[in-house]
Amino acid sequence: MKCAVYYGPGDVRLEDRPVPEPGPGQLLVRVDYVGICGTDVHSYQRAGIIAPVRVFGHETVGTVARVGEGVAGFLPGEQILCGPPTHCRENCPSCRRGETNICLNGFPRTAGIGALDGGYAEYMLVHDVRHTMLVPVPAGVDAREAVLFDVVCVAFHAIRKSRFRLGDTAVVSGGGSIGLSAIALLKLAGASRIIALEVAEDKHAIMRAYGADQVINPAQVHDVGAAVRDAIGSGVGADVVFECVGRAESVETCVMHCVRPGGQVMLVGAGAEPLSLVTARFVPREIDLQCSFVYTEDEVRTYLALMAAGKVDFSALVTDVIRLEECVERGLERLSRPGNGQIKVLIAPSA
Ligand SMILES: [Zn+2]
Ligand SMILES: [Zn+2]
Repeated sequence: MKCAVYYGPGDVRLEDRPVPEPGPGQLLVRVDYVGICGTDVHSYQRAGIIAPVRVFGHETVGTVARVGEGVAGFLPGEQILCGPPTHCRENCPSCRRGETNICLNGFPRTAGIGALDGGYAEYMLVHDVRHTMLVPVPAGVDAREAVLFDVVCVAFHAIRKSRFRLGDTAVVSGGGSIGLSAIALLKLAGASRIIALEVAEDKHAIMRAYGADQVINPAQVHDVGAAVRDAIGSGVGADVVFECVGRAESVETCVMHCVRPGGQVMLVGAGAEPLSLVTARFVPREIDLQCSFVYTEDEVRTYLALMAAGKVDFSALVTDVIRLEECVERGLERLSRPGNGQIKVLIAPSA
């Protein structure tokens, strides 16, 4: 089978490997679609994120090809979504509390990120069915939209974890696929006003199309706080702010300038830059800083149910579907270039 193997920054090679044999407790999945995640692009650009040598790909939808001994509940031909996050279910304090998204053992076991090969391949082995997020794709749901779970559910979890309530005002920083999902879901959830922040002007139109009432370029205004307050029209910042970039500048802007006294900032983006936050600027206003990380299996099932019921449509996030052979040139290389015009690129390895 063909697979794309990560050897290090700038070095992803197409290889031919034997199709894995599913052992007891394992599943073999023929990969229909795998999303190119920002994490893949960042790992392609610089070392220290995903360890080589690994088959990339952690947002996968595939068709069950073979079922290992002792595996119940899955049949060949069934289409399933293979998440991260992976979890140990009951063996750690987080999982025992039902917070499988912050499982202490999840990350190293996640295919395509941790020690296991992922979905940039014609076939992917699910190493441990019991400890992997595997959710059937409901009838009538397009696999190309189902595979967006790793993007949409990050925003979904952040909104559900936040104090956001019907009628609240919101700021969303970042016009990537997670920011756009957050905007669309906040609109669905009944935000009274959504103000978006994005430095790349070419993303402003789509942010408005997804439901932003106004888009501000923080690099182009003298006083971001004043621009946000004007846009909200209440004289203060937003009730809830969703930071979906992870860059220091965006976090600092969100915390110090965009939220009302007593409001909440949801930290969704995770980046490597150190922050320079001045506590005197936000502690006296009792700003609630809340981190949000990935999503739970329940949230993925809810997302699929919303899609099956026609309540959400994120298909426009997919801007290109490419073959595995194109994953460097039309995938990782292209997505590394700023202003590439892409939102979500999918690979169809079995096409
Ligand atoms: Zn991802
Ligand atoms: Zn756990």
